[in-house]
Amino acid sequence: MADPAPPYHDRDGYIWFDGELVPWRDAKIHVLTHALHYASAVFEGERMYGGEIFKLRPHTERLIASAAMLDFEIPYSADQIDAACIAACKANNLTDGYIRPIAWRGSEQLGVSAQAAKIHLAVAAWNWGSYFDKNERLRGIRVGLAQYRRPDPATIPSKAKATGLYMICTIEKHRAERAGYADAMMLDYRGHVAECTGANIFFVKDGELHTPTPDCFLNGITRQTVIELAKRRGIKVVERTIMPEEVATFSECFIVGTAAEVTPVREIGPDTFKPGAVTETLLNDYMAEVQPKKVAAE
Ligand code: PMP
Repeated sequence: MADPAPPYHDRDGYIWFDGELVPWRDAKIHVLTHALHYASAVFEGERMYGGEIFKLRPHTERLIASAAMLDFEIPYSADQIDAACIAACKANNLTDGYIRPIAWRGSEQLGVSAQAAKIHLAVAAWNWGSYFDKNERLRGIRVGLAQYRRPDPATIPSKAKATGLYMICTIEKHRAERAGYADAMMLDYRGHVAECTGANIFFVKDGELHTPTPDCFLNGITRQTVIELAKRRGIKVVERTIMPEEVATFSECFIVGTAAEVTPVREIGPDTFKPGAVTETLLNDYMAEVQPKKVAAE
């Protein structure tokens, strides 16, 4: 799917870059940046709703933890990273938008070893509506089946939100889009249902919510929020191993993520679903939950 113009490098506004707000077009790095060659970068995706970044601190903590999994330390505290995210929104006059912090190894050393490479941090923020087409979203999206699988945690730090983990996601998203799907469902290295290319997955059966145990992929912040919202509604949540053959037995399906929010699914490969009451309830609960909490008037 073509990204709506203008390209990301050619926009107005400001980007928080190593402690300063720089004009958007000047936020550049050298081609010999370690992260470009060896995928030594970790990032976040956050959304601001009504002037507040939803679950900012958990995102910042995950960024710091992802960096630690890649054996580097971000040279800013959690408070400073939170402040950078807020400053990036403010500098671009955003009250609703998407925030992308990224930390990476620089160009002081280029080779597998990068002990001397400086660690950088940048935060960009921009207006970004629904990840999936709005009309499509209400009807439910069509999801294809991925060929690559989420890797064994013994082969890669699979819980890091690290750029390298997205190589197979981009390949699979492209494959899905070429076949007319909006996304692809990935299995894990054991052949269990895992997630989509940028979102976690939930199924409904007999009024209960079933979702794969996140033991080799991100336990998304949205996933955790939706589980909490379901429990508040008295909906039973079952985290377990889900085999691909079982997918046909579920009545509803939806995917969740900061960008995807709660997106109903109407088709996964040969199996079809009808976005129903559970999906609709949780979609509405999620959209209410992300709004800043109003302090009651005195
Ligand atoms: N899985 C993958 C592969 C993702 O990219 C994302 C988006 N960060 C998620 C799950 C959902 O995570 P979150 O709800 O924290 O955005």
